[in-house]
Amino acid sequence: MSIATAVTLDNRFARELPEMAVPWQAEPVAEPRLLALDEALATDLGLDPAWLRGPDGVRLLVGAVVPDGATPVAQAYSGHQFGGFSPRLGDGRALLLGELAAGGLARDLHLKGSGRTPFARGGDGLAAVGPMLREFVISRAMHALGIPTTRALAVVATGQIVRRETLLPGAVLARVASSHLRVGSFQYATTTGDKDLLRRLADHAIARHHPAAADAERPCLALFEAVLAAQASLIARWMLAGFVHGVMNTDNMTISGETIDYGPCAFMEAYDPATVYSSIDHGGRYAYGNQPLIAEWNLARLAEALLPLIDDDQDRAVELAVASLGGFRRMYEAAWSDGMRAKLGLPAGHDDAQLVADLLTLLQTGRVDHTSAYRALATAARGDSAPIRALLPDPLAGAWVRRWLALGPDADAMDRVNPVYIPRNHLVEEALAAATGGDLAPFTRLVEVVSDPFTERPGLDRYAGPAPADFGAYQTFCGT
Ligand code: AMP
Ligand code: MG
Repeated sequence: MSIATAVTLDNRFARELPEMAVPWQAEPVAEPRLLALDEALATDLGLDPAWLRGPDGVRLLVGAVVPDGATPVAQAYSGHQFGGFSPRLGDGRALLLGELAAGGLARDLHLKGSGRTPFARGGDGLAAVGPMLREFVISRAMHALGIPTTRALAVVATGQIVRRETLLPGAVLARVASSHLRVGSFQYATTTGDKDLLRRLADHAIARHHPAAADAERPCLALFEAVLAAQASLIARWMLAGFVHGVMNTDNMTISGETIDYGPCAFMEAYDPATVYSSIDHGGRYAYGNQPLIAEWNLARLAEALLPLIDDDQDRAVELAVASLGGFRRMYEAAWSDGMRAKLGLPAGHDDAQLVADLLTLLQTGRVDHTSAYRALATAARGDSAPIRALLPDPLAGAWVRRWLALGPDADAMDRVNPVYIPRNHLVEEALAAATGGDLAPFTRLVEVVSDPFTERPGLDRYAGPAPADFGAYQTFCGT
């Protein structure tokens, strides 16, 4: 099968927004070797997994060949990084190959680690095997948990050495997203001062993600509100799952409401809102418990970028945007409370704010593993309180459990929303270290386990608990 029959790529972003798209090519890869492929995702996209595994497929997955009509580009965007604004970030080591048409839905096919671009600044444009496999396994887990996310299609080793603190094997990640439009994309368009560009970007975003906004009285305000809703729901899901993104800069927040850029992210173990894993997040700006506030802050930056399109009278535009932004907290609180109710197996409509708050206090004081706690509670709902007693030795916990059991929680419903298996930090590190040394078996096994997070299976006990004490404090890194 030729590449032309195997894959078709549109270049809509490049065509509609040329000011934000620098045509560019991936760096040649001497010895590409496929390390991981999401076959189910490939099939969903209308791609043949067997073809992708073959020499032409692997060449596509590193950008060495693209079908006729495709225009690979590095995308321009700005971003607030840890609160400071950089007007020109952009894809320093990434390329949008183009848009796949999957069931009428455009999906970006994008590479990371494909070489320096005009946005690379001091960076080498490359990526190492470990961090790219990390994105593969964590985004797979997120998807299996039902959390909107960009998807990793494949990781290909380049055979090239990448210089970090040590010398590491290089890799290219091929990822798929409903788009790579970010809050930072709008900040970029606004910063250019070109209102026509900003309008085209908004039209493009509306058409791709929030088509209903086109019919609203103020389409750009409706776009903003749709992004608020998508992000409120996304961040609530992160919080319910114990996910810490780690680098919620405005260039890492999508317009689609998908999780993007798995850098220093990790799943929290001991419940604590102050949890931080990123080595550079000294102030805890992106701590677990701060994520809803940071999302709101980022969305205020999106509002600012959209102001010129909301109303010609800028005072009026601010008034309208502020009123809309106020909806974020309500939507977030509602999504989070509904999610907590589901985690506790309680019916909708029940007022249990105090019950939930008391549980979180117990979990925090006891430094209880966030993921195990809810499965242990489901076991208690089935009549066996031993596991939750072991996790929560606090004398007040018994009273809390009795109070909750009196409400008649539905244990089966709990097990459908509370995972047994998440990508545990120590197991991720173990799998990536082995893969970096050439042994993919632990990685492949971990991917299998986290792909089915809610069904407890025999023989997988070591995947179901927190890191042993000797694993120590976990630290993650950016820009890897
Ligand atoms: P990230 O932390 O992955 O969201 O990246 C932030 C910015 O740094 C983006 O503009 C990236 O393209 C850029 N960047 C990160 N790593 C590299 C690298 N090794 N080479 C070039 N640019 C990079
Ligand atoms: Mg980024």
